[in-house]
Amino acid sequence: MSTERLTLEVQEHSDREAGGSGVAGANGHLGGGHNPASVRSGRTVQSLNPATGQLLAEFTAADAEEVQATVADARRAAPAWRRLGPGGRARHLVRLKEALFKRRHDVAALITREAGKPRLESLLAEVLVALDGLDYLARHGPAFLEAESVPHQNLAVRFKRGRLEYEPYGVIGIISPSNYPFSIPMNQVGAALIAGNTVVLKPSEFTPQSGLAIHTIAEEAGLPAGVLNVVVGDAVTGAALVSSPVDKLVFTGSVATGKRIQGEAAERLLPTVLELGGKDPVIVCADADLELASSGVVWGAFTNAGQACLSAERVYVVREVAACFTKLCVEKTRRLRVGAGEDPDTEVGPLIRERQLKIVEEHVAEAAGAGAGILTGGRRAAPAGLDGFFYEPTVLSGVHHGMRIMREETFGPVLPIMTVSDEAEAVRLANDSHFGLSASIWTRDLRRGESLARGLESGSVMVNDCLSSFGIAEAPHGGFKLSGLGRTHSWVGLMEMARVKYIDVDLLPKIPKLWWYGYDTRAGRLMESFVDFLFAPGFWSRVYGGLGVLTRAPGRIRAIRRPR
Ligand code: NAD
Repeated sequence: MSTERLTLEVQEHSDREAGGSGVAGANGHLGGGHNPASVRSGRTVQSLNPATGQLLAEFTAADAEEVQATVADARRAAPAWRRLGPGGRARHLVRLKEALFKRRHDVAALITREAGKPRLESLLAEVLVALDGLDYLARHGPAFLEAESVPHQNLAVRFKRGRLEYEPYGVIGIISPSNYPFSIPMNQVGAALIAGNTVVLKPSEFTPQSGLAIHTIAEEAGLPAGVLNVVVGDAVTGAALVSSPVDKLVFTGSVATGKRIQGEAAERLLPTVLELGGKDPVIVCADADLELASSGVVWGAFTNAGQACLSAERVYVVREVAACFTKLCVEKTRRLRVGAGEDPDTEVGPLIRERQLKIVEEHVAEAAGAGAGILTGGRRAAPAGLDGFFYEPTVLSGVHHGMRIMREETFGPVLPIMTVSDEAEAVRLANDSHFGLSASIWTRDLRRGESLARGLESGSVMVNDCLSSFGIAEAPHGGFKLSGLGRTHSWVGLMEMARVKYIDVDLLPKIPKLWWYGYDTRAGRLMESFVDFLFAPGFWSRVYGGLGVLTRAPGRIRAIRRPR
C-alpha cells in the first residue's frame, strides 16, 4: 500500500512497525516508510483515534537533516513555480480544489478518526473552509498580487514612475496545530502557493495523517514535485524547520510555542506570522435574543469539544438577563450528544490529547474550589463503549477574574458564565486579558453591537454569531496582544506571503537632480524657495517661492553638471 493511500484509508494500526517516512514531497511522493534518513531520528509520532485511544498509524519524526533536505527541495522547485505567474498558479489551485472536492468524504472521515470531531464539523470547518479558501485565492489572488503604480504627490519627484511589486519570499515554512489539522494549513498553503512560494509544512504530531492528506491531494491535483512538501514530526522537527533556511515562517499554535519560535526567529530576523491562543469573550447584552444567544454561545463553547482558537471561552452576561440566559445554556448543554465523531448524531467529540484534558480538569477544579458553581458536567466521562479523552460539556457560574478559567485558555468543553452589571463592565472585563483573538456580542441593536465591538481589544468581533469568521474567506484572521502577530486569510493574509518591492524609474534620465551634490549658498536658497513654493501658508509667499525656483533652478542644474 502506498503511503498516499495510507493517509486517507488507514483506520486501524496494522502490526507493521513504526517507520512511515517523516518526509512527504521531497521527491514527489509520501515516502513508503523505508527512507533510511527518516529512521535516523529515532523519535516517533503517533496518530491515535482520540475517541478510543486506538493507534491508527505511526511515523518516524523527521530529523534536522531531513528538514534541511526538504527545504532544499522546495527551494529548487521555487523558480519554476514562480515563473508560472499568478494566473498559472491559480490554475493549479483550482485543480487542488477539485481534487479536494473529489476526496471530501475521505478527508472528512480521516479528520474525524484522527482529531475526534463530529463528521459534520470535519466536513464544514475543515473541508468546506479549505475548499472556499482555495476558491477565493484562485479567483482573487492574481488581482491582489498585480503590480500597482504609485503616483507621486511631491512636484520634485513627479517625473518618476513608481511601482509596487509583490514578490514571493521563496520557501515558506508552515507549522500547524492539531485542532483544525486540515483547514488551517490548507488555507495557509494556498496563500503561500498563489503568491509564488513553495512550502514545507510540519503538521502537529497529534494529527500527522491530516497533514499528509494535504500532500496526497496536491499530488492527485498534479502539483509539480517539490512545490508542497510535508515533514512529519514533533516539536524537535518543528524547531528544525524554524532554524532551517526557510524565508518566512507561519506558525499556528500556543502562545508558549509562539514565543519560543519568535525568539529563535529573532536571531536571524526570520519574518514570522504567529497565530496563537485566545480567551475569547462573549458579551450578552440586556436586549439580546436569549434563545438565539444561548444556542450560539453553546455552539461556540462546545464545537470541536471547545478546542477552537476562535471560541466562546468566557461569557459576560448583563444581570437583568443572566438567570434566563444561564438556564437556557444549561438546558441546551445537557441535551448535547457526546460520542465518537463517526456517529452522525454526535455533537461533541473527545479532546485530541490527554494533556489538554488534564488542563480542563485543573481549571474546573480550581474554579469550583474558589466558589464557582458547576451547573452541568464537570468531569471526565467517556460514553459507553469508548475509552478516549472525553470531558462532559460543562457550564459554570459564579466565576470571577481571580480564576484561571477566566484568564487562561482552557481549550476544552467548558462555558464559564459571569454576571456583570452592564455592558460597560462587560467590555472592561473582556479587555482585561493578555489575549485578543476574537470576541462576540449578542444584542438586538446592531448599531450598538458594532459600537461595542469597536471598544474590544480583539482581532475580530462578531455580532450575533461567534467563530464563523474563520470560515469567511474574505475575513482577516489573527489576534491582538498575545494572540499573535500578522494575519492569515483574506487579502491581508495573502499579502503576508509576499515581499513588497518598490521600483522607481526616472522619466527624465538626462536631467541631473536638484538635490545631488554641489551644495553651496545658491543651492540652499533654491531649496528654501522650493519649500516655500510647496508649503508656505500665504499665497504670495508661495508665488515668491515659485519664482525663486524658476530663476535658480537652471543655474543649479548647470552647477551640478559642471565637472568637480
Ligand atoms: P502547540 O504550540 O503545542 O503546537 C503547535 C505546533 O508547534 C505543533 O506542530 C508542534 O509540533 C509545534 N511545535 C511545538 N514546539 C515547537 C518548537 N519549539 N519549535 C517549533 N515547533 C514547535 O499548539 P497545539 O496544542 O497543537 O494547538 C493549540 C493552540 O493553538 C491553542 O493555544 C490554540 O488557541 C492555538 N491555535 C490558534 C489558532 C489561531 O489561528 N490563532 C488556530 C488554532 C489553534
